[in-house]
Amino acid sequence: MKKGKKSGGEYSGRIIQERRVTRKVYYGKIPVGGDAPISIQSMSTHAACEKDAVLKEFDELASAGCDIVRVAVKDQNDIDILGDICEQSSMPVIADIHFDFRLAVKSAREGVAGLRINPGNIGGKEKVREVAAAADDMGIPIRIGVNSGSLEKKLISLYRNDPARALFESAVGSLEIMESIGFTNLVFSIKSSDPMINVETNRLFAADNDYPIHIGVTEAGPVLSGAARSAFSLTLLLVEGIGDTMRVSLSGDPVNEIIVASALLSSLGARNDIPKIISCPTCGRSHLDVLEIAGALEREILSRRGGIKVAVMGCEVNGPGEAREADIGIAGTPGGAVLFTNGKKYKVLKGSYLKTLLGEIDKMLAARNS
Ligand code: SF4
Repeated sequence: MKKGKKSGGEYSGRIIQERRVTRKVYYGKIPVGGDAPISIQSMSTHAACEKDAVLKEFDELASAGCDIVRVAVKDQNDIDILGDICEQSSMPVIADIHFDFRLAVKSAREGVAGLRINPGNIGGKEKVREVAAAADDMGIPIRIGVNSGSLEKKLISLYRNDPARALFESAVGSLEIMESIGFTNLVFSIKSSDPMINVETNRLFAADNDYPIHIGVTEAGPVLSGAARSAFSLTLLLVEGIGDTMRVSLSGDPVNEIIVASALLSSLGARNDIPKIISCPTCGRSHLDVLEIAGALEREILSRRGGIKVAVMGCEVNGPGEAREADIGIAGTPGGAVLFTNGKKYKVLKGSYLKTLLGEIDKMLAARNS
């Protein structure tokens, strides 16, 4: 079987075909590739030197269900604080480096779980070799991040005619450099801001080798349009079994990236451990503040594991049906709300719906995970 080809593929009624067979690497304790679940990543909106802001953001991302985080390392001020960040983060931290290979070498020594570089702007093979040596010493992977916004000059004219191939060629060029220096603890990402070019270039790369792939649409956009663009592109890749870890890049609060990635993976059945929250759009019949309850649940429970479906419905029209279909659901009534668990009416709620719902969710997950 050619490297990177799927291990099976007969249609079985599942949305996702067999995952592409890849090597496995580790960011700290989190595996990426092989039989590991598709992990969710995000990135701090602050530079590493803003330690408190970075760690606060990391806490929020962890609570939302993020698996791996990245932080920009731009200069020595960032390096000075990086060790503390790695120590205090509950998730593996990847240092994101551009232009200066020395920052990558220093970051590796500060205890990051991985590096992200773009060999196209890090300064040639000898510098890449030094970065690889530092990563090798620390036993950490390097993500080669090829991006339509920072392509090597020699590929610009090809990019004008065939952008997917130009991005692919850039990734292959980096792969050849890394293999020629004997470093293969690698993850690749090839990202375009065009969703379809993104799909095409990842298809090319996935068919050519068995390295794990980090998928994402770069500069996808503001939250709603960016989420739609990312969902379109990443769904096409995921159903073909391509993608071992992912980021939904959105402008704004990075917690939104985790919410969108979680919904995408759970909808596709790629991650059955992530809670699914359904809620009605509300209308003039609603007796509940569905938006507030469902929004708060989304931020609270996506990091809980065990796979659970929760419904928040505004009224007695579609509410009881959907709430019964879920593991736990509430449906608004003129006097309050009815709570359903495991398809049965459980009790009538008044007042603090969210607290009761969270308590019931935790009870059910504890029973499932015991
Ligand atoms: S469940 Fe009720 S409140 Fe919600 S959209 Fe349907 S009819 Fe409207």
